[in-house]
Amino acid sequence: MIQLSARNIINVLATDSPHCLQDLIQTAEKCRKKNVGDKVYLRGLIEFSNFCGCNCLYCGIRKDNHNLQRYRLDKKNIIQMAMLAFEKGYHSICLQSGESNNTADIDLLAEIVAEIKRLSMERDENSRGLGITLSVGELSYQQYKKLWDAGAHRYLLRIESSDPTLFKRIHPPAQHLESRLECLRALKDIGYQTGTGVMIGLPGQTAEHLYQDLVFFQDEDVDMLGMGPYIPHHAAPLSKVLDTQLDPYTTTLKMLALSRLLMHDINIVASTALQSINPDGLKMGLRAGANIVMPVLTPEDTRDYYYLYENKNYKRAETLIEEITACGFTPGLWQWGDPLHYKNRRN
Ligand code: SAH
Repeated sequence: MIQLSARNIINVLATDSPHCLQDLIQTAEKCRKKNVGDKVYLRGLIEFSNFCGCNCLYCGIRKDNHNLQRYRLDKKNIIQMAMLAFEKGYHSICLQSGESNNTADIDLLAEIVAEIKRLSMERDENSRGLGITLSVGELSYQQYKKLWDAGAHRYLLRIESSDPTLFKRIHPPAQHLESRLECLRALKDIGYQTGTGVMIGLPGQTAEHLYQDLVFFQDEDVDMLGMGPYIPHHAAPLSKVLDTQLDPYTTTLKMLALSRLLMHDINIVASTALQSINPDGLKMGLRAGANIVMPVLTPEDTRDYYYLYENKNYKRAETLIEEITACGFTPGLWQWGDPLHYKNRRN
């Protein structure tokens, strides 16, 4: 059992020792079973638009990538997909897109959320309907409130890195760490179950940076974490920067395990990026403490345009469910799977 002092955590994150990684995962697995059991909850992910007003230096759907065909799924299509997820027992969905704070886009999104909520509540004997997570970037307080009033109750906004210098290095000057922080606090204030996270293995990122990220997650008292390896995209300028110091895959597993050990009752995602970078990503991510998986439901003819990084790997939801079971975990179908932490912090 490792002592979770700052020095130990930094050493664990920095070492290449496979033995240390194994020990950490074993400890996290026990902690996970004890605190959140063996359930793995699903979030059907609908990537409804790749139009984006941002120019994040790492991202394949950044505004200045002019070689990308842009799409936006129409309202009817999104609602149909959400209802299909509901019928299959995936009782939470996540609507994700590139960033647009345009009033018409947010109004339309609010209508979609409200309609999904209404239809799914009608078909649910418990009248709860679908749990709706949003992940559409930085918006104003009023816009977040509007979407909350429409029926969304979870929000994911990654801080990407909580270190001001590293954040600046991976974003254009127009994007600010402070405004992300303000957004996260607004979301919590409104009442959302709030999730954040970072990319792991970024150029210039060190074990100390990641330790600070873990402290940040605790200080912000987050309910959910979505973290994944940084994977370069050829059309994004950061792919030309090559001073990577930490192995993205094993370091992500360590960050998942440390997060579980430090924050027993939160929900932690085994991300698509983790599954894409290594064939064992799902299994190892779950063992390291993740209890959420987000099967991609975006239609096959458009999902290739939501190309955040190279070799993005999609598995069918049914395949993911089989794999979750084969790894010894229980898929949490027909339920929302809210983070226990949310209840605990509100009591
Ligand atoms: N517009 C939304 C969704 C962004 S995409 C928002 O701003 O929150 C979702 C996540 O994909 C990002 O937060 C980022 O952490 C991750 N991502 C983007 N490019 C990536 C890359 N090259 N490698 C790994 N993850 C990446």
